[in-house]
Amino acid sequence: MTRRTGYVWHERYAWHDTGTHIGIYPSGGMSQPYHAFESSQSKSRIAGLIEVSGMLDELTRVGARPATRDELLRVHTAAHVDRIKAESDGAGGDGGDGTTPFGPGSYEIAALAAGGTIAATDHVLTGAADNAYALVRPPGHHAVAETGMGYCLFNNVAVAIEHARATYGTRRVAIVDYDVHHGNGAQSIYWDDPDVLTISLHQERLFPQDSGDVSETGGPGAEGSCINVPLPAGSGNGAYLAAIDRVVAPAIAAFAPELIMVCSGFDASPLDPLGCMTVGSEGFGLMAARLVEIATEVCDGHLVLTHEGGYSPVHAPFCALAVLEALSGRPTGVVDPFAVGFEHSPAHALRPWQEEAIAQAEEVVRALGVD
Ligand SMILES: [Zn+2]
Repeated sequence: MTRRTGYVWHERYAWHDTGTHIGIYPSGGMSQPYHAFESSQSKSRIAGLIEVSGMLDELTRVGARPATRDELLRVHTAAHVDRIKAESDGAGGDGGDGTTPFGPGSYEIAALAAGGTIAATDHVLTGAADNAYALVRPPGHHAVAETGMGYCLFNNVAVAIEHARATYGTRRVAIVDYDVHHGNGAQSIYWDDPDVLTISLHQERLFPQDSGDVSETGGPGAEGSCINVPLPAGSGNGAYLAAIDRVVAPAIAAFAPELIMVCSGFDASPLDPLGCMTVGSEGFGLMAARLVEIATEVCDGHLVLTHEGGYSPVHAPFCALAVLEALSGRPTGVVDPFAVGFEHSPAHALRPWQEEAIAQAEEVVRALGVD
């Protein structure tokens, strides 16, 4: 079955300048200059493969527009928004943690990333598309109300959710974050909100190192609206799909959201410099297919993915293409060259220590009465 999948990409996203770094840290001294891992490379190459593969012709193009200051202020403090704007109007600056560099003009690009996620959400909620993928940059899932961090300036998914609430009266929303890093931003922003369910699948204690534990389940009055599945390093397709089936699916079915937002990062790839997982393009595609099924059963298929991390310029494009094939139901026939070496790896089987981590999260879902 084919579906109309909305797709956001704007060349300006590639112009967000993260400068010269040694991946994460400033270069200089004995650190030979290189680029930040969060560069335009992986994202531009995703957009490139989507076009060259013919997938672009099967998608519904969605124009991006900048989020307004007022839209950003639904999520972020004025001090944060205005500081980013001031630094962006000058020589550039940092998101807030010293490892989130940006150049001149990045305020406008970050507003366009949040606005691109809004536009994708509009398309799905008005019925102009069945589901959507917003390939935006800079990413957003680490940004909290008061500051950016981890390459993120504004929390794109939260800005889009608040837009949906203000515009369409949407009340209950679920966020599924399969980026290899913890979705701490949405967890923090919606900690006390019982109407937004945040579920994060991530490598345990990777980034941020002090959040994402299975014991974090939501603030007073919102207990159970936060679910973490911290997976051990080395987890592959088997562990991720088991987490989707045994934690994400029952939690969302019980929560009954009107809209499912997905923070889509491809840094659980075995080729990623910032993660130690082994999810292949087939695994990402199967996860997306499961999320389409869940959304179809629970909320009329209302499913919006927004792009987060994924720093392998050579592998991320094939992972993204697999996800878009699953969302649209339109295979391109493009073969992931890395699949030969990775998809049949024994590393994909669900291992006992991964099973244990999933069982703990499953217990949280059960104990919270959302099973
Ligand atoms: Zn990440």
